[in-house]
Amino acid sequence: MSKENKMTRREALKGMFLAGMGLAASGPLLRALGTDAETANASNAAPWTEAPEGSKIDSRTWVKMGETLGMLGLGCMRLPTLGGGGGGGFGRRQPLDQEAVNVMVDYAIAHGINYFDTAPAYGESEVVTGKALSRHPRSSFKIATKISNMNGRATLEAGKQMFETSLKNLQVDYIDFLLCHNIQNMAGFRSRFIDNGLFDWLLEQKKKGRIRHLGFSFHGTNADFPALVDYHDWDFVQIQLNYADWKEMSAGWGGNSGTTSSEYLYNYLVGKGIPVLVMEPVKGGALANVSDGVAAVMRERHPELTPAANALTFVGSLPGVMVTLSGMSNMVQLKENVSLFTGFKPFDEGEHAFMLTVADLYKSKGQIPCTACAYCMPCPAGVDIPGNFKIFNSASDALLALDSDRKDFADKRKAFLKLYDGQPAGVRADACVKCNACLSKCPQHISIPQHMDRIRGLVARVR
Ligand code: SF4
Ligand code: SF4
Repeated sequence: MSKENKMTRREALKGMFLAGMGLAASGPLLRALGTDAETANASNAAPWTEAPEGSKIDSRTWVKMGETLGMLGLGCMRLPTLGGGGGGGFGRRQPLDQEAVNVMVDYAIAHGINYFDTAPAYGESEVVTGKALSRHPRSSFKIATKISNMNGRATLEAGKQMFETSLKNLQVDYIDFLLCHNIQNMAGFRSRFIDNGLFDWLLEQKKKGRIRHLGFSFHGTNADFPALVDYHDWDFVQIQLNYADWKEMSAGWGGNSGTTSSEYLYNYLVGKGIPVLVMEPVKGGALANVSDGVAAVMRERHPELTPAANALTFVGSLPGVMVTLSGMSNMVQLKENVSLFTGFKPFDEGEHAFMLTVADLYKSKGQIPCTACAYCMPCPAGVDIPGNFKIFNSASDALLALDSDRKDFADKRKAFLKLYDGQPAGVRADACVKCNACLSKCPQHISIPQHMDRIRGLVARVR
């Protein structure tokens, strides 16, 4: 049964956790989202029960906004492709599988998911999502899309055209949630939206009812956040939030010469009474694909939860969170996620604190904080950047520590090299020529060429 939590902005300030928010008997058990990385944890997967037919995920009502939204949203950046697997951002324009998307959208709507997030930057996503949603009454879904006017498209005309194209692609005459996409700091926001008059134009569209709610997605540092939030009376703001990034986003963010933490961003928004839209709750699948040692620690405390379920529960337990977006690529992921959020069982403060100790352990393993968004692609030298990072992150603790005394070392070494060598030669980390073309494109500010060196180094040492 769906359960509505009447959530006003004032109420969001009252505490860290909602008490008694849906206590269904069945355990929330699911795999990860987004990529097929989560299959690496198949051996850790707990049994899970598909949500009963006719049941709905839990929802929250946002009074000021006048919206009731399912706690789980369908992120449409990683929709299924005809070649199998999920799609991607700028660099991965693989043809999407319309029929598979239709089936996913039908199931999502039937189970109370009503928030669908896409962007012009996600290849065919808008068109395919629009086709799937057009088969449902307009009142049964909320569409979120963005002004992705990065990469030299920051003119007023280009922004207007992008918005009109989104309406056409999505087959709607208004956008429920429109975001200024991938904002990092005030200077960038000014050049892309203010100085060219685009923000004023968007406000006009909102007055006309063509945009219902206006927000932005953030990829900058703590220091740059308040000026952006305080610039406008935003209806919502989208931030990266997960347990690993709660205290401080991974080392890669240091490339932006400042600290970013989900905790700071979240608390700043809640303090201002602004609903928080969450992206990357599982870091693009990275928190589903944690090392064996990290997974074991979580399993000991919550044997009924997979690593991904722990990550999603951490986010969903925060009362200021409007929607937790999960980029899903197949029905298994969708069904597992729906199961988790149907009769959602939140973490209490003790479990929240426990997850922060897991974050410390996770970070101590030195995994690469790649979310597999593919914004860095294509690499001019042909390197599959997220693919190599995924393989590196799959390396076991014993392998990373070069601890050949551990009994599983030989097996793990073999499995790792099989994955690495199984890639076509031109896409492996050793093809990186350090041109740095990818650096400015990565919203996670990952030092990509340096990590390619780490991968090469690990391969050389274990070969
Ligand atoms: S630095 Fe390496 S990975 Fe990045 S674009 Fe250049 S060749 Fe590709
Ligand atoms: S390296 Fe950065 S841009 Fe590339 S896929 Fe990973 S997170 Fe995305």
